[in-house]
Amino acid sequence: MKLAVIGAGLIGGSFALALKKAKAVSHVVGVGRSKQNLKLALERGIIDSIARDAGAAAKEADLVLVATPVAQFDSVFASLTNSNALITDAGSTKRDVIAAARQALGSGIARFVPAHPIAGAEKSGAAAASADLFQNRRVVLTPLKENSPEAIAKVTSAWQACGARVSRMPADEHDAVLAAVSHLPHLLAFALVHEVAGRGNSEQLFSFAAGGFRDFTRIASSHPEMWRDICLANRDQLLLELNKFGEKLQQVKALLDDPAGLEKLFAEAREARDRWIRSS
Ligand code: NAD
Repeated sequence: MKLAVIGAGLIGGSFALALKKAKAVSHVVGVGRSKQNLKLALERGIIDSIARDAGAAAKEADLVLVATPVAQFDSVFASLTNSNALITDAGSTKRDVIAAARQALGSGIARFVPAHPIAGAEKSGAAAASADLFQNRRVVLTPLKENSPEAIAKVTSAWQACGARVSRMPADEHDAVLAAVSHLPHLLAFALVHEVAGRGNSEQLFSFAAGGFRDFTRIASSHPEMWRDICLANRDQLLLELNKFGEKLQQVKALLDDPAGLEKLFAEAREARDRWIRSS
């Protein structure tokens, strides 16, 4: 199988490396925005050749993975109209990605099977790509009514060959779930670090910050463009989550006058987190 990776960064590069490791691909052609990153992807053996654009890459491929930041999907899909290759993606939001694909691909939409690997890191680029990134991690497919069972099966087996556990969900449910457990935490981490960094005594604050601050804010080292696109694409769900979280903060504020209530909330939160860690 020949694979085209549009956006040979952390996720696209890891998909290529994982499929190579599984001997599921014979050739990977890469497309990117940064020459330096593409050169590194070649040097690391992530890709075998570079195409000048997504359209040219797709013409020589059986499977195309779109793994650019989600605001780029409109223009990427627009250049995929002249190929018959099966397409999947790694976009962190699904309603906007599907809308972009429908707009560009029209009646060819059946060959796009949307996907989101729930795996990643705060690092980016081909330098951070790893063949094991998706090992035992979840990939959510949000199949379209136009997709044939064969197309869904091919995309499922590609992600399974990367070591992933594949499940399915409607796109709107996906965006609501990910807003709560991924998009909100990233926004909060960025906001907290920004708030501390903006204070007059920020140097002093950072010099006393330790493991707790580091753990809580690790994801604020994530790619700004990628997270801008995700937050804008999922704005409605993110606003709902921000409102809910605002209410929770009000509740916690009131509990600062209620030691038993505060301890009960902390105990319930710890129990819920420990249960989640044990089961994951
Ligand atoms: P990345 O920055 O490592 O890689 C993205 C690559 O796309 C870069 O190499 C960039 O040069 C290239 N690119 C940007 N615009 C392009 C365009 N118009 N045409 C061709 N190439 C272009 O980012 P990443 O972490 O690999 O994320 C890629 C996608 O995967 C995003 O949609 C993101 O939402 C999604 N995702 C990321 C994670 C994560 O944790 N990083 C997890 C799951 C899904």
